[in-house]
Amino acid sequence: MAFRLFSFVLTLLVLGCLGAWWLGWAGALAGVLLGSAAAVGVDSWRGRRFIAWVREPDAARPPVLRGLWGESAYRTARALRAEQQKARDSAQRLGDFLAAIQASPDGVILLDEEGRIEWCNDIAGLHFGIHPQRDLLQHVSNLVREPVFTAYYASKNYEREVRMFGRGGTASQPTKLSVQLHPYGNGHKLMLSRDVTALALADAMRRDFVANVSHEIRTPLTVLAGFVETMQSLPLTEPERAKYLEMMAAQSARMQTLVKDLLLLSRLEGSPPPSIHEAVDLPTLMSQCETEARALSELLHPDEERPQALRFAALPAFNLSGAASELRSAISNLINNAVRYTPAGGSIDVRWQRLPDGGARIEIVDSGPGILPEHLPRLGERFYRVDRSRSRESGGTGLGLAITKHVVQRHGGELQVSSQSGRGSTFALVFPPQRVRPAPAADEEVSAPAAAA
Ligand code: ADP
Repeated sequence: MAFRLFSFVLTLLVLGCLGAWWLGWAGALAGVLLGSAAAVGVDSWRGRRFIAWVREPDAARPPVLRGLWGESAYRTARALRAEQQKARDSAQRLGDFLAAIQASPDGVILLDEEGRIEWCNDIAGLHFGIHPQRDLLQHVSNLVREPVFTAYYASKNYEREVRMFGRGGTASQPTKLSVQLHPYGNGHKLMLSRDVTALALADAMRRDFVANVSHEIRTPLTVLAGFVETMQSLPLTEPERAKYLEMMAAQSARMQTLVKDLLLLSRLEGSPPPSIHEAVDLPTLMSQCETEARALSELLHPDEERPQALRFAALPAFNLSGAASELRSAISNLINNAVRYTPAGGSIDVRWQRLPDGGARIEIVDSGPGILPEHLPRLGERFYRVDRSRSRESGGTGLGLAITKHVVQRHGGELQVSSQSGRGSTFALVFPPQRVRPAPAADEEVSAPAAAA
């Protein structure tokens, strides 16, 4: 600044001296005035260029000026560049932040103090049917119109989440959402939504399961308690006592079978899939199943005139790998069901088949009552019975097919059922090629099925 003043005064002095030398005192005055006017003019011109640039500043191209204005332009451009860099960094951070929220598996909506949507991720869009761009600045209660949400929003008490139906899903299984508002900043709100359909379904299944188990246990328990009371309160003859005790034993056996099946199911659910390196002793397994089935058939149909025809085809020329005890359970459940549901004089055929893809299939074909098509998709659900009374009469727990389905799925296969009402049923277990291996040589070791599966 001092230098500028000094050079300005020096220039005026030089001009004044030159004027005085040339024209005397008047020349000196004219030189000083002329120099001042020129200095003011140049300064104004520089100032105007600076202001013109400041109006639409381009930090990369400041005006090239000398002196104070040049310095100002240079410093302004530098400050501007620093600010622009800061703004770029902030925008980048915001972009990263929004991308992270976008990647969240939960729905996120940012609401302003009026409840208008400032931003929402795609998941929230799916949950509530909101368009992430088009619906910006719309009031959330205009777009999310579930009464339960409207009441929750109006209550201003957001300590707990609210459950409501969301968009998507099917008519039989609509999407269920858990939604919660979290106030932040100056009246803003963060709205989080989570798809809890699977959770709600698991919850309902757990409740159903507990109710079913309680019901299954309560029935024999009630009968048992009734017999105990009768025996305690009435004087009974010896034959009557024996009869009651026999009926009590049948009820307690039923409860035992139920508990055994429940334990087996929970063991199946909690253990890893059976190894593919463990070969099964198929001849032993099948002979155990056959002995059991024939004994059951004789027990259920002692009438020798119309016995059931049980036909077991020859053993296959291959073997299976997996858990022998589980496979025995699965196969004997199907054969025993065929025996239990097929009337006297009917037939049951058990045969093996090698599939073109290298897999294997065992099918159990009976000439029993068959099953109506509407029941087929639900077979394999726990406690699902087509014929309740028949199932209970023959000691069924309603868990046999659930166990079978679980076992075959653990072996990578599937349970296939085809049936026509009145014309018998075919239950088949299909195993993938990885579970099929050549039949063992006579001296090769295979795992025998456990006795009590
Ligand atoms: P349950 O112990 O009642 O037999 P399952 O899970 O083994 O339970 O079978 C479920 C239901 O499927 C049975 O209650 C029965 O109604 C039906 N079912 C199973 N196998 C047959 C079959 N071979 N023929 C006709 N109905 C069958």
